Amino acid sequence: MTTEIHEYLELDPDARTIACRKCGEEICDADANYKEHAAIRTGPITDAGPVFTPPEKIYDRDPDIEFRQFFCPGCAVLLDYEVVPADEPILHDLEIDVESLRE
Ligand SMILES: [Zn+2]
Repeated sequence: MTTEIHEYLELDPDARTIACRKCGEEICDADANYKEHAAIRTGPITDAGPVFTPPEKIYDRDPDIEFRQFFCPGCAVLLDYEVVPADEPILHDLEIDVESLRE
């Protein structure tokens, strides 16, 4: 049994892996940050289009803002994106408690 953990991601609690729901590509271990194992494209904030609030309104400083997109390495579906200062590490926003899923 796999568990849906994201629009395009599923977890196999027995194999302890995260895979793409679209193409089945195994992306990483369940306790890893899938974004670090995805195909990443980084670009300037302008790549994100006009939908985002200008960064100077979010941050006190005027940092270099990066637009990061994370794609499945198998089928290239867009898994997630983040708009962050360029010196920020990749966000780990999907932490999974594998043990609780196995119960
Ligand atoms: Zn895929």
